[in-house]
Amino acid sequence: MPQDKEKSIKCPFCAEEIKAESKKCKHCKEWLDKNKNAQTETSQQSNPDIIETEKTAALKKDITAPTLWTLAGLIIIAFIIFMGNYHIITGSKSGMSIIKRDTFSFSDFLIPMDKITSMPYLAAKSQYPVGVKALQREGIIEGHNAFVGRVKREAQSNAEKAWKKAME
Ligand SMILES: [Zn+2]
Repeated sequence: MPQDKEKSIKCPFCAEEIKAESKKCKHCKEWLDKNKNAQTETSQQSNPDIIETEKTAALKKDITAPTLWTLAGLIIIAFIIFMGNYHIITGSKSGMSIIKRDTFSFSDFLIPMDKITSMPYLAAKSQYPVGVKALQREGIIEGHNAFVGRVKREAQSNAEKAWKKAME
């Protein structure tokens, strides 16, 4: 191994180049052990790069962690407020739409329009009581009285048809 590739230090007593591993200076014959240990300790304590990086990392952690939690909390709170005040109508052919609730509640946040229109009115009313009321309030589906009236008329006309058929 060539001499210049070996780690060398300057002897603290005579300033001559010596091997880093040497325990005794070959020039001034001073023992280097004690001094070497002391040097290592101080270099570990005060390595400015390491200390600065650790400080910066700790600082970043302190700043980003609470900010992210606050942000997540605000998003959750905003969503809860939104859920309590609005319905989202899904699956309707006109696309997703949002309608306001009349009172703060979390029931029937999502109103599956296709499901509601494909099931019998009374079943939809019992499964999505708040949602169906909201749809009626917005005039999206017929109101209760309109429904009852239509069912009565349909039943009447069916009965009339059946009566006429029976009389033929
Ligand atoms: Zn020396």
